[in-house]
Amino acid sequence: MKFDIIIIGAGMAGLPCAIRAADRNKKILLVNKNKNIGGKLDRSTGQIAAAGTNIQKRKKIQDNPNLHLREAWEICKGTANLSLLKLAIDNAADTVNWLETIGVNFPENHPVITYQHDIYSTRRYQWPIGYGKEILDCMSILINKYIDTNNITIINETILIDFIKDKNDKIEGVTLLNNKNKKIKYYSNNIVLTAGGYTNNEKIFNKFSPGVTLYTPKFTGSEGLVHELAHSYNIQLDGGHLYKGMIGGVLNKKNDKHSVSISLNTIPQDRQPWEIWINCEGNRFLREDHPSADYRRHKVNIQTKQKFFIIFDEGVLVNSPSISITNDGGLQGHIKEELVLEKYQSVEALAKGINVKVDNLYDTIKNYNYSVENKKDFFGREHLPRKIEEPPFYSIESVAFALPSPAGIAINEQFKVLNNDNIPIESLYAAGEIIGNTRIMGEYYIAGMGVGPTLTFGKLIGETLS
Ligand SMILES: Cc1cc2nc3c(=O)[nH]c(=O)nc-3n(C[C@H](O)[C@H](O)[C@H](O)COP(=O)(O)OP(=O)(O)OC[C@H]3O[C@@H](n4cnc5c(N)ncnc54)[C@H](O)[C@@H]3O)c2cc1C
Repeated sequence: MKFDIIIIGAGMAGLPCAIRAADRNKKILLVNKNKNIGGKLDRSTGQIAAAGTNIQKRKKIQDNPNLHLREAWEICKGTANLSLLKLAIDNAADTVNWLETIGVNFPENHPVITYQHDIYSTRRYQWPIGYGKEILDCMSILINKYIDTNNITIINETILIDFIKDKNDKIEGVTLLNNKNKKIKYYSNNIVLTAGGYTNNEKIFNKFSPGVTLYTPKFTGSEGLVHELAHSYNIQLDGGHLYKGMIGGVLNKKNDKHSVSISLNTIPQDRQPWEIWINCEGNRFLREDHPSADYRRHKVNIQTKQKFFIIFDEGVLVNSPSISITNDGGLQGHIKEELVLEKYQSVEALAKGINVKVDNLYDTIKNYNYSVENKKDFFGREHLPRKIEEPPFYSIESVAFALPSPAGIAINEQFKVLNNDNIPIESLYAAGEIIGNTRIMGEYYIAGMGVGPTLTFGKLIGETLS
């Protein structure tokens, strides 16, 4: 059977692609591994940055894509793919405007400036009132409409296992495997790969980003199956060397690296740190209240096993605002279960519990207390509210984690997949996490440039494929 477009993956990139193509009366086959459509949309915040949106115009915020690009380029220190970053930014406002037309609502006070990543100079950052789930709900209505008109056919619980080639070696279709273990073949001149990432496949992660530890939340659907297939088709896969994990994560289950929850508020603009951060050697390694999110993130990422311990005492526990991201209620927030807070009666017991040299830990705490007393810190920390001296002592183990996958399939500005010789492969397109988030953000995180380009590129492919 032949379709105008076959889309592999019905998530954040695949759904807008299908909808915009169906708007042009194309016949689309949407193939999805998971039981339901949506991918990670139902758990993502849905944060999008865009310049020149209708929302900004209504609020009389002066902005334009050139300024957005300049700032994004500065934030990523020139490490991203400039032409793809530009393409995403030039089309971001259309995406946000389109989301509004399909019924997505943004909070009255948005766009905003937030400090989770290094900041833009103006308010161009927003997310829906109902987060990513609201985008999914609005898109689901349109998907159902186009299922009724026979423009979209969806098959869930089915995966892409191979490409079909014609006698001239041109890809002309796909071989799928459904949940009854049955192989099915479908044909199209346009195959769009929007099958998401590989953060739940440690083997692939380690291959792309050797030497770093993978911590991530569990998500069925990010197994990198298409990455494995791409490898055997001489498709260019790169970007993993730029990986830097996000911070603020804890492991809900001590030895399960796939049990990350984003639980800690490590943003000094939201909550000044009262604790010290120490590495596996028992030493402080950064200015905990440094205003740059990228500074803090990079310092954590170069520590052994990309993890560190947040250390404090009873005095901090009782007096400081909560470090929990979901609760600013002081003590109660601190002792929320998801923080996996460990309690020790002495510095020796703390050192033993977190497996660091006790002499190092003593020195670290002594030096920090000296900084507090003298209001002058070796790392330049400015917020020095109180010493760490009153037992019991506490530690929270925190890890730098992967949300989007860093590496991925290389594409050109027409979204065509490139082979290892940089030559576009006919019939094959890709968008979303499958292209790797470092392609758009480089070695840094640019606010709103994960979800934004994912939706935008999917949408643009749907609007342009013939
Ligand atoms: C908790 C959480 C919060 C996040 N918050 C943000 C945020 O605020 N901002 C941000 O920028 N990013 C965020 N992200 C990342 C963002 O959600 C993803 O980068 C984005 O959803 C990727 O969209 P996608 O369409 O490429 O992939 P997905 O949404 O993952 O969809 C991929 C789809 O492909 C299907 N699939 C997989 N393999 C196959 C196969 N072989 N054959 C057929 N189908 C297949 C899957 O079933 C899935 O439905 C977050 C992620 C998580 C987990």
